[in-house]
Amino acid sequence: MKLNYLALAVPLFLSFIALEYYYSKRKRKNFFQYAESVANLNVGIAERLLDVFTTGLFFFVFDYLHKHFAIFDIKASVFTWFLLFLLTDLVWYWYHRLAHEINAFWAVHVVHHQSEDFNYTVSARITVFQSVVRCMFWSVLPLIGFPAVMVSSLLLVHGLYPFFIHTQALGKWGWFEKFLVTPTHHGIHHASNPEYLDKNYGDVLIIWDKIFGTFARERKEVKITYGLTKQLNSHSFLWQHFHFPLEIAMNFQRAKGVKAKWKVLFGRPDDLDPRCRSVLERKFLNVHSDRKPTLAMRQYVTAQTLFSIVLLFIVALFEHYLSVWQLFLLSSFIIISLVNSGAILDQRRWIFYLEYTRVLLVLIAIGVFYPNNWAFSAIMGVLFLMIWYFRPMQRYYFQLLYTNSRA
Ligand SMILES: [Zn+2]
Ligand SMILES: [Zn+2]
Repeated sequence: MKLNYLALAVPLFLSFIALEYYYSKRKRKNFFQYAESVANLNVGIAERLLDVFTTGLFFFVFDYLHKHFAIFDIKASVFTWFLLFLLTDLVWYWYHRLAHEINAFWAVHVVHHQSEDFNYTVSARITVFQSVVRCMFWSVLPLIGFPAVMVSSLLLVHGLYPFFIHTQALGKWGWFEKFLVTPTHHGIHHASNPEYLDKNYGDVLIIWDKIFGTFARERKEVKITYGLTKQLNSHSFLWQHFHFPLEIAMNFQRAKGVKAKWKVLFGRPDDLDPRCRSVLERKFLNVHSDRKPTLAMRQYVTAQTLFSIVLLFIVALFEHYLSVWQLFLLSSFIIISLVNSGAILDQRRWIFYLEYTRVLLVLIAIGVFYPNNWAFSAIMGVLFLMIWYFRPMQRYYFQLLYTNSRA
């Protein structure tokens, strides 16, 4: 059987999250906020899902570059593996630093920093757009002459490490603090306190920050606040992904002249007009922050998130056995569920149309996989009921979800 065993990362990471959650409860420390954790996991589910489609593509790019443009012919040995590790970590440092300093790159990295918590679920906050930008940076490695197999294998191990540094449960690492990036260092990177901004970009080794002047030590007198300097106040899946590209687009439109427009794309995030965010928030967000989440909302969102995780695991594990149609339908179902969860947490009313789209997707799936008269009649019956009872169902749905008992 040709299973994709990388899918096992999903239950492995979930068990670490469960352990950390258990630890935080025992110690009576508040590492986890419900909506934050759900939003973090949802971003991660989307990225893992789209990884299924992009991993092969990245390998192809590395292989193509190596075959056609490699400067040196590097063979695998202990020395070259070590050299590749050092270079990968160095490239990461610069990718990460530029992702904070250049708007076009911050647009994809900002999602990783939106969480107001710092725990293992935050490590899942990587988007597929960020993976694409990172792939551009990694491309320098096959260009130097490292074969695609070496680069991809090392990236796999290198990519595991950052998961373990997103936690407040492990404390200080003693002597390792001197040369490794530890949870303390990376916690500082996620802080929005002025004294910690734009510090500790390293992935495995902290030496690059010390060499290039971006290292910050923990200061006992500073109480860390995690997240962005201007918090999002929304758990919408779409808003989290696209608020900053929208801000860039708005600034770009308002900027006069080529130089100013260039600065919007490649300047620093601080140079953008902060008023644009407020304008966009009024236009797209309209969050009812005064309304408390209901118990039904939380139960429904939890069930959706768990179901999405199970579906993701199945898609990732059996990717080689699924047809294009099955992959498309399952992936669309998962993505709609993620958008749905975020919109419910923000108590948006357009989610009802999304629920309908999801049901339609299930009906299409039944029609595609069971093309017989019985299935056709059942689909037509459900469609008729959905159209006929649209208003009453909508009313009942909102009553059930948004106005029932408080959490
Ligand atoms: Zn960062
Ligand atoms: Zn991080």
